[in-house]
Amino acid sequence: MTIHQHFDTVLINGRVVDPTNNIDGKFDVGIRLGKIASVAERIPPEQAGDIIDVTGQIVIPGHIDTHAHLSSPFNSNVDRAYGHAMLVESGTTTALDLAGDPTAMVQGMIKRGAGLNVASLMGLVPHETVPEDDPRPAVLRDAVADVKRRGGFGVKMLGGYHPFTPESSADVVAAANEQLAWVAFHVGTKDSGSDMTGLREVPEITGNGRLHVAHINSYTRGMIEEPHEEVQEALGLIENMRSQWITEAYLAQANGTNGLCDENGDVVYNVAQNCLKARGYPTTDEGIRESLMDGYGSALIERGGRVIMVTGKEAVEIWESASTDASLSYPVNPPTSAFSLATARYEDGTFRIDAISTDGGSLPRNVAIERTMALVEFGALSMDEAVIKLSYTPSRMLGLLNKGHFTEGADADVTVINPSSGKASMSLVAGELIMLNRRAIGKGGTWLVLDEGKDSAAATGLPYEVINLENSKLYASWS
Ligand SMILES: [Zn+2]
Repeated sequence: MTIHQHFDTVLINGRVVDPTNNIDGKFDVGIRLGKIASVAERIPPEQAGDIIDVTGQIVIPGHIDTHAHLSSPFNSNVDRAYGHAMLVESGTTTALDLAGDPTAMVQGMIKRGAGLNVASLMGLVPHETVPEDDPRPAVLRDAVADVKRRGGFGVKMLGGYHPFTPESSADVVAAANEQLAWVAFHVGTKDSGSDMTGLREVPEITGNGRLHVAHINSYTRGMIEEPHEEVQEALGLIENMRSQWITEAYLAQANGTNGLCDENGDVVYNVAQNCLKARGYPTTDEGIRESLMDGYGSALIERGGRVIMVTGKEAVEIWESASTDASLSYPVNPPTSAFSLATARYEDGTFRIDAISTDGGSLPRNVAIERTMALVEFGALSMDEAVIKLSYTPSRMLGLLNKGHFTEGADADVTVINPSSGKASMSLVAGELIMLNRRAIGKGGTWLVLDEGKDSAAATGLPYEVINLENSKLYASWS
């Protein structure tokens, strides 16, 4: 007689936290055919194929990062596909690339993928991904339809780098909304900046539409008012737009920007200008050089298959050898803003900012899980709330109804966290280990596409899943 194994893999003895099912305690998690098959106080070992002992560790539905960088819409001096392994090593199992281009994304996933589920947005860059400055509505409609066919979820406006007029920005929202495509906004237009002045314009740009307003913390850096005043103002705007916006914020101090200077030596991008102004440096090539030499700014460089930050002379050399068009980083996100935004709630206890994101991936600041666990340790979030911000609400934002919880039949995407370090120690996607002891061991990835992207996805040879954004929080009760 052969013993029938009910489960391919069983995680035993972990503290399982799944607020959707009111679970917080010592349980075994049984996985069969890539799905959650059972969460029980004890699963007999003879019913398990593989047993993974997670005694003393915390087992949560896999972290879903609603703001990551795994590809680039323009040339970059670092290959953003390194972000797959970097994100996986921090415990993430699903990511929205923000943005990016779906074609580049697939190439990166085939070459350097680490087992993530990935959805992709296309960054709107005039003369690169859209043919003109302030594209006409018909051009935008075509761009949205094209990106969906190529396997993308939709588009992102890069207002801190390639701002449109407020009117064109509103056209982008409308073009995406009418095709039920994703639309994300790094705020800022030709009339405003990548700061609170940009955020103030967004309600009007949104109109009656729906919008993912990206990394709220980036507009509360104290550029216009004191940071705590900007936080309060941002939270007020979010409350007013509660049924139309979805939002995330990240917890790293380091930002990501680009040091491009024009032929006069002036810094081109608004975000980089703000970084320099924040510490009194001139917004010129000389200002960038000094900021790097002083160790305030860092340059990003690939080393050993990961992207790291360096400062000083080495950073200046990287920036100069890229003819100033280099990825840089500045520690401009105040921890007080990060704390307030991550923990702000409405009176009914739901969070004002939907999710905690990394804004990382290829940018070395994938600290969403460890910083969230620090907030749990501090008492600012309960463990249930940590799961809601890292996994459950992100799954609702993206319409991934089979993720974010451990209901029987849900995808067996799991993040295991070491409670003493607060860092993820292991993760699984569809029941397969993709990370162990902070080393990525997964390959490739699963491509999350809309119905129009099925054929493109099938042609890549990668596994894929068709997602319906009618199920997403972005388009909840949209008609
Ligand atoms: Zn970003």
